[in-house]
Amino acid sequence: MAPRKLAAGNWKMNGTLAALAEIDRLLADHPQPGCDVLLCPPATLVHAAAARAGHIAIGGQDCHAQASGAHTGDIAAAQLVDAGASHVIIGHSERRSDHGETDIQVAAKAVAAHQAGLVAVICVGETEAQRDAGQTLDVISAQLAGSVPEGATAGNTVIAYEPVWAIGTGRTPTSDQIAEVHALMRQRLSDRFADGGDVALLYGGSVKPGNAAEIFAIPHVNGALVGGASLKAQDFGPIIAAL
Ligand code: PGA
Repeated sequence: MAPRKLAAGNWKMNGTLAALAEIDRLLADHPQPGCDVLLCPPATLVHAAAARAGHIAIGGQDCHAQASGAHTGDIAAAQLVDAGASHVIIGHSERRSDHGETDIQVAAKAVAAHQAGLVAVICVGETEAQRDAGQTLDVISAQLAGSVPEGATAGNTVIAYEPVWAIGTGRTPTSDQIAEVHALMRQRLSDRFADGGDVALLYGGSVKPGNAAEIFAIPHVNGALVGGASLKAQDFGPIIAAL
């Protein structure tokens, strides 16, 4: 089995009900895409998005590590499932920086996602200072070891490599730099999991219609996690088509 190709969109804290018209446009323009398509809208939109998503999978952007309880403002994995989600992004760098999430917490959230039946899209990525210091491969290895829990399989886990300095900046690593990290991730996952060779590996960080094809040609890049360019069908559509 080869990794499944996945074009994933992360709307972050953008969009109200009116934005769901973009889903209708995507469905009309790409009725039979050659890859899986996932959109992760804000939690307020998950239920309504799932109701009109057709072949597009809907995901959350975070979940709590516990199944229920006194955690004001948080969302349990089973609640995302109840709302129609099939996936959840875990450990995005904005969660790690805005909310101080550690690898241990990310792994616990991924376990909760798996237990609820969600596919966990686990994010890793180095800061610019770490890259400049030559620490990128060590950072990614440590984040993978710490954030990807036992029990991860190609069926319940996707890994997204998102260099922090490339997110929302219009800057991307070179193809060689992406290839180096993705080869490392493939090796680490294969060392640890029986089907690690089949886990889908996404690149994320300033993926646009103009650079998607080049990025998708890199070995062990099985798709993308797209932020800004996933908000409009006119931008996300060509990225889906390039995969
Ligand atoms: P970007 O965000 O595509 O806007 O750079 C990517 C992400 O944070 O997932």
